[in-house]
Amino acid sequence: MKKCRHCGSGGEIKVSYARIWLCKDCFTSFFERKVKRTAERHRMLKGVRRLAVAISGGKDSAALLAALKRIKLDADLTPIHINLGIPGHSSECERKARELTSLLDLELHVFKLEKEGFTIGMLGETRLGRRACAACSTVKRYWLNKLARELGAQALATGHHLDDTVEVLFNAYLTGDLETIARLRPALPARGKLIARVKPLISLTSQETLEYARILGLPFTSSKCPLGRGSRSLRRRKLIDKISDEIPGFRHTLLSTHLRVFQPIAEEHTELADLRECKLCGEPSSQEVCGYCKVKSAIKGHLAS
Ligand code: AMP
Ligand code: ZN
Repeated sequence: MKKCRHCGSGGEIKVSYARIWLCKDCFTSFFERKVKRTAERHRMLKGVRRLAVAISGGKDSAALLAALKRIKLDADLTPIHINLGIPGHSSECERKARELTSLLDLELHVFKLEKEGFTIGMLGETRLGRRACAACSTVKRYWLNKLARELGAQALATGHHLDDTVEVLFNAYLTGDLETIARLRPALPARGKLIARVKPLISLTSQETLEYARILGLPFTSSKCPLGRGSRSLRRRKLIDKISDEIPGFRHTLLSTHLRVFQPIAEEHTELADLRECKLCGEPSSQEVCGYCKVKSAIKGHLAS
């Protein structure tokens, strides 16, 4: 039987890249220590009295919210969920988000996109259908930022973990997407009406967040978005998994090299577009009309025709 590296009792969880086993209690403390250290190292909570937390209903944001609550930060936690109106998916996500926050004794703020007169479920019928994921990201980013700011938060935390980050980096380096390379950081400062964004799980793997959520018995859904692009992203994930099997710590090394060497250089060589206010909605945008208002008018225009 494997022994826990920290306390010597039965080891139940394998931390693959470090080649160690931990018992459930020691794994939980290990996970929370890492979240705390990441938040401190990247000064994620500097000046933050209220931290909005984006809750999707999935395992990652469930683990994030529970860990943030358990490490007892100085900031108040304000969980936010966006119901995107995707048939066969969104209602289950909202249900799990509600269960999670009631278990953690926090008040969930839910925004239903249908209040705007359209849903992501309607995207399929429009010319944006083939780029549904990009349009949906624009919608999520817009409402998370707007709601977090209106609720008085100084920063917004998301459940992006190491696997997500490495996938984005892999793609960005492959295609030479300097702007993504420059902007991929654990914490992005506020700019005008765009509030600060933080990723406290950035150094934890997808498997670790799953183990943590399971150990604590957190409610989450494994429902996958039926509109999701899937295959290419899945192939890339599998490829990165294979590399990590051969080179344990591959993901951690790529992230640390990125942050230490390439990100600062990329940042120096890319200029941030000036921010102004969207002439239709007043939210921050680099163009006259923001991405969200464009998606909204494309869907509504289609519905009216
Ligand atoms: P995804 O882009 O679906 O991988 O999600 C990344 C992160 O965005 C999650 O961990 C959440 O923090 C946040 N998020 C995704 N979907 C929602 C949603 N419907 N409502 C609130 N936050 C979300
Ligand atoms: Zn707008």
